[in-house]
Amino acid sequence: PTAPNDLSAFWMPFTANRQFKKSPRMFVAAEGMHYTTAEGRKVLDGTAGLWCCNAGHKRPKIVEAIQQQAAELDYAPAFQMGHPKAFELANRLVGIAPEPMEHVFFTNSGSESVETALKIAIAYHRARGDASRTRLIGRERGYHGVNFGGISVGGIVNNRKHFGALLTGVDHLPHTHIPENQFTRGQPEHGATLADDLERICALHDPSTIAAVIVEPMAGSTGVLIPPKGYLQRLRDICSKHGILLIFDEVITGFGRIGGAFAAETFDVMPDMITCAKGLTNGVIPMGAVLTTADIHDAFMTGPENLIELFHGYTYSGNPIASAAGIATLETYAEEGLFDRAHDLGQYWEDAVHSLRGLPHVIDCRNLGLIAGIELEPMAGKPTARAFEAFLRCYDKGVLIRTTGDIIALSPPLIIEKSHIDELFGTIADVLKDLP
Ligand code: PMP
Repeated sequence: PTAPNDLSAFWMPFTANRQFKKSPRMFVAAEGMHYTTAEGRKVLDGTAGLWCCNAGHKRPKIVEAIQQQAAELDYAPAFQMGHPKAFELANRLVGIAPEPMEHVFFTNSGSESVETALKIAIAYHRARGDASRTRLIGRERGYHGVNFGGISVGGIVNNRKHFGALLTGVDHLPHTHIPENQFTRGQPEHGATLADDLERICALHDPSTIAAVIVEPMAGSTGVLIPPKGYLQRLRDICSKHGILLIFDEVITGFGRIGGAFAAETFDVMPDMITCAKGLTNGVIPMGAVLTTADIHDAFMTGPENLIELFHGYTYSGNPIASAAGIATLETYAEEGLFDRAHDLGQYWEDAVHSLRGLPHVIDCRNLGLIAGIELEPMAGKPTARAFEAFLRCYDKGVLIRTTGDIIALSPPLIIEKSHIDELFGTIADVLKDLP
């Protein structure tokens, strides 16, 4: 495959647009751990695409499943009709999810999963006769996609300040991140104390008006922020005490990234809903899902106001081809034991991440499972410039990293081998050594 010459018509996601137009970089093929560029160079994928291709690229089982499904049943109307693959995928998903998750609502992206979960939370309380619970609580530096609900509960001020009226009645828990791996090395009491901020917010608003708290169990897009030990459990306790639903946004942490299928298990804290996407179909076809407890599902299906009245659903919810891709993806994860990779390679990965300590500009290194954040000292007067330069230089040397602000974020496909880890961190170390 070759790259097109005319780049004028297609609008890249606008945050990436300006940089891209200056120096276009295009991938034209991918397989396993590698991309191929338009110039025919191989690039090691240190980011699983955008935290999504957890089984690596061009996996034969997934390719075949998509081809077969497209030839068999391309589409079935999502509202009136069912088709077997959506039910099969839902059952398989429930099979790998933590036990209280019994029902699946399919969406087409992480952002849609978030919107859906927020609406379900409000509708759940309403279906139980409590229409006053409409407030939503997110976290500073939380990322929940780019739709209106997601940017409202999300904690990135820049993402929401230009868009006028957002959801009302939203508040944000203060940012809790402390350098280094507090989850693995901190004291549980410390995290619990930080989570007490939720009690302060409850006292401010009257907890009986709060529908849900949404958090990423480990914030990814805002820089791989590992929660302090005890933090999530304390949030759970406070939510339970006040009848508030707890939503874990597992769009990044789901599907083996930090070990096990979902972070809820790794952290041993159970939310009421889990949002996911990305790794659900290995990033190959847009699909997301909201997992809920039976309690939440039953409130709609048996309550006074059912889902028909509280209409919500997407044309492509549980699309047959996406469902087939999802089934093949989950099979690939299971057959290759990919959810164990974060444990099996965890120590090797951790050592590699922390080998960057002491190199120029590195101010913090953190890791969990097969994810890492390497925070660089921002260049004076030019925030993000240093990390972006690191991205460009790594790319030139054949390694794809991701940067968010001045943080290098790494989340390779789970099929990564030790030799790839050596190459990834060797290249980053070389780049850091003479980075301006
Ligand atoms: N939630 C989280 C935690 C995410 O990381 C992302 C995407 N990075 C989203 C939601 C949005 O997902 P999408 O881009 O598929 O809409």
